[in-house]
Amino acid sequence: MTIQWFPGHMTRARRQIQDKLKLIDIAVELLDARIPLSSRNPMVDEILLNKPRMIVLGKSDLADPRETEAWIERFKYEGHECIAVDASTGTRVGEIPGLAKKLLHEKIAKQLSKGINPRAVRALIVGIPNVGKSTLINRLAGRNIAITGDRPGVTKGQQWIKVGTEMELLDTPGILWPKFEDPIVGYRLAMTGAIREQILNIEDIAFFATRELISRYWDTLVDRFGIDVERPTDLEDSSEVVRIMEAIGRKRGCLISGGNVDLEKSSGIILREMRAGKLGRLTLESASTY
Ligand code: GDP
Repeated sequence: MTIQWFPGHMTRARRQIQDKLKLIDIAVELLDARIPLSSRNPMVDEILLNKPRMIVLGKSDLADPRETEAWIERFKYEGHECIAVDASTGTRVGEIPGLAKKLLHEKIAKQLSKGINPRAVRALIVGIPNVGKSTLINRLAGRNIAITGDRPGVTKGQQWIKVGTEMELLDTPGILWPKFEDPIVGYRLAMTGAIREQILNIEDIAFFATRELISRYWDTLVDRFGIDVERPTDLEDSSEVVRIMEAIGRKRGCLISGGNVDLEKSSGIILREMRAGKLGRLTLESASTY
């Protein structure tokens, strides 16, 4: 689902999260492990105020494991607890309640010293649309919950979902918006399938994707499509990127009359295979350059 974010929506989304913050002990900020920067809300620090926060890198099954490790180190260095999960299979999701407790260890220790039995940690998942919030909530809950209200402005009664005995989760996530003003962010979100193709032109997205793949995963690109071409040296030269898209199209039989390559078809193939993980595990943003 793609939400059109107008200033009014942003204000409402922000207010909804801030209302929920009063109910919770910690926020779980969910990012896409392939694009931890582009899947991040630009105002997240301001919105979450000083609520203890854990960063969860989702869709890590699709991301480059070495890059994911580097991101975890980076976020820990910045003082956040951080874990990478695959909510589609549940890998490492079970560690989230333990980390949540760790985040609150001082408060819990204080309560224990006063003889108070600490209650379960209350958490809210926040993230941009399509980052995997509903999937993660269902995984943590251990059952399928119809998650509605997944739009700013739609409210409904909130319920707590028990996650074992140590954690309780609000059943409606907090929806944040991405940094749309930056066109690179828009393209990276489109590449990973977080925003629909109707918004951006498919050939433009594939052009951008091919350029990123040439610069970061050239060998993978060559192997997957079996192309026998020289690696472009100047990625600012768009005809060089198009040359690679055409080579891919030719290899896959995307031809139109006159022997020319059908770029739209070839674009579709590049994007589909990349999103399906056919090019292996890819990360488009490195912690080292951030
Ligand atoms: P939401 O809008 O943030 O609630 O996102 P959803 O939970 O609806 O997930 C968006 C898409 O990402 C769905 O197609 C999910 O199946 C997929 N998805 C979510 N988490 C993961 C994950 O960890 N790994 C993979 N491969 N796909 C995921």
